Amino acid sequence: MERTSYRSLGCGEIREAHIGRQVKVAGWVRRVRDLGRFVFVDLRDRTGIVQLRALEGSPVYEVLRTLGREWVIQAEGVVQRRESPNPNLPTGQVEIEVAALTVLNTSETPPFLIEDETNAQEELRLRYRYLDLRRTVLQQRLLFRAEMVRIIREYLRARGFVEVETPMLIRSTPEGARDFLVPSRLKPGSFYALPQSPQLLKQLLMIAGFDRYYQVARCFRDEDYRGDRQAEFTQIDCEMSFVTQEDILQTFEGLVWEVFQKLMNVELGPLPRYSYAEVMQAYGSDKPDLRYRLRWEAVLNWPAHAHIPFLAGKNLYWLWIEGGKASRRLQDEWQAIAKSYGTTLAVVQKTSQGIQSSLNKFLLSEGDWEGLPMSAEGLGLLVGLEEGKYALLGALRSAVIKDLALSPERDWAVLWVVDFPLFERDEESGRLVAAHHPFVHPHPEDLDKLEEDPLRVRGLAYDLVINGYEIMSGSVRCHTAALQRRIFRQLGLSEAEMTEKFGFLLEALSYGAPPHGGCAFGLDRWVMLLTGGENLRDVIAFPKTASGADLMLGAPAPLDPDQLRQVKEWISSGQTVS
Ligand code: ASP
Repeated sequence: MERTSYRSLGCGEIREAHIGRQVKVAGWVRRVRDLGRFVFVDLRDRTGIVQLRALEGSPVYEVLRTLGREWVIQAEGVVQRRESPNPNLPTGQVEIEVAALTVLNTSETPPFLIEDETNAQEELRLRYRYLDLRRTVLQQRLLFRAEMVRIIREYLRARGFVEVETPMLIRSTPEGARDFLVPSRLKPGSFYALPQSPQLLKQLLMIAGFDRYYQVARCFRDEDYRGDRQAEFTQIDCEMSFVTQEDILQTFEGLVWEVFQKLMNVELGPLPRYSYAEVMQAYGSDKPDLRYRLRWEAVLNWPAHAHIPFLAGKNLYWLWIEGGKASRRLQDEWQAIAKSYGTTLAVVQKTSQGIQSSLNKFLLSEGDWEGLPMSAEGLGLLVGLEEGKYALLGALRSAVIKDLALSPERDWAVLWVVDFPLFERDEESGRLVAAHHPFVHPHPEDLDKLEEDPLRVRGLAYDLVINGYEIMSGSVRCHTAALQRRIFRQLGLSEAEMTEKFGFLLEALSYGAPPHGGCAFGLDRWVMLLTGGENLRDVIAFPKTASGADLMLGAPAPLDPDQLRQVKEWISSGQTVS
């Protein structure tokens, strides 16, 4: 750590090589141990912890004894070898014999102990986030995050990407979530939206000729926050011109390699690619956790099928868990999951004693079991589904992995999912909606189906999945106004609505837009995965709670009456409301 007027080096940097040298350190008192003849102080700064010592009779002895937790001090002295080393600390071989000590500030007794392992309530820690952030685990995660952004920036810069900032006060961009809105004072009755992503702005930068753009971009989505969502989050947002999907995947596969290699010391090698159709049928999810091999197999020719009432006429899927065993209770729980998806599950338990299954009563002979691939002993799950309803397969697979406490077969499973559908049907309204966002370029092979059979049209869209999390998502974009209009039309937009909402985009596309495409990485989630955090809050300096609150700042907060009156005026087109 940089030398300043207060210190010559960081607390955590002192080593045996410094023995005999005079050093100056500054930091926070982690704890004081008064052993009578000696007093020891653990001093902490961002680099780590070092032990200070004073002997009875030394001029600083009395001061050292009276220091409180989290006081800020500066200490000077000679580094010496410890009598009883601590092998768990990088500085554990040495200590500083304090000759001079200055108290720079005192501290109230902190409301919780500032240690890696803490059982303090998260609410309390968020209220005193600046104290929570003094914990080494959190500091290390944020340092890791900073390092990761540096590596990403360097990788992108070396490949011609230009960092450009885009505005926060914009118009709604449709990423499928609710916008945060800001009322305009100067144009009463009108609103800005905070960006859900810089999607259209980065496309406009391509039209403007920047060729390659990136931004460490803050995005805002007013959603109900779950463990892996925050209202405000960061994307590494990228866009490239004159590229095909292949060019884009290769560029960002390289970025993923680089991050894993430099930060995790892991060589990923070429990333497997799966089509959306394949992952849905094999894993029941578009972001499967492939650390586990478990895979559903379609059962095609199984004669017994026909005389089992709850399977007849459906597509059969079979999951075999080698060596697996499930209690009655677990089987009932899985059955309940199947029921909640409107279907019935058949469980097959095979042991050296034979096969136990609710299917037995429907089968005519032992030979009927052929067609369901099994090994010597294990557990099989069989379900009948209607086409396209694969979510149950994912729910059951996750339940089996969790309930049987299966261990992962590898640490990292990183894959591409490609060929997503362009549209999906909104269950409530029955209307077509964009599966990703409305700017995705249809797969060229499916272009002629756009009007006749839109649900069968694939998009040039891709996701990167790491251990069951979607870490990046992107697409090639429509770069002609004509194609973009065809998509908007399919989404039910009238000419007037197109002009009203996306007139600027359609206009820009008509002034020579290059072929382009890109992606965005969810930085918070990626850092969380790589640092072993359990929650996005673990990798964000000042996060919000599940109900969207900042407990430290007390945000959101009511306005004072005058402000509220003004805002109401802005919202209601300048007419006074009571
Ligand atoms: N804007 C998209 C998103 O936030 C990513 C992209 O298409 O580049 O998911």
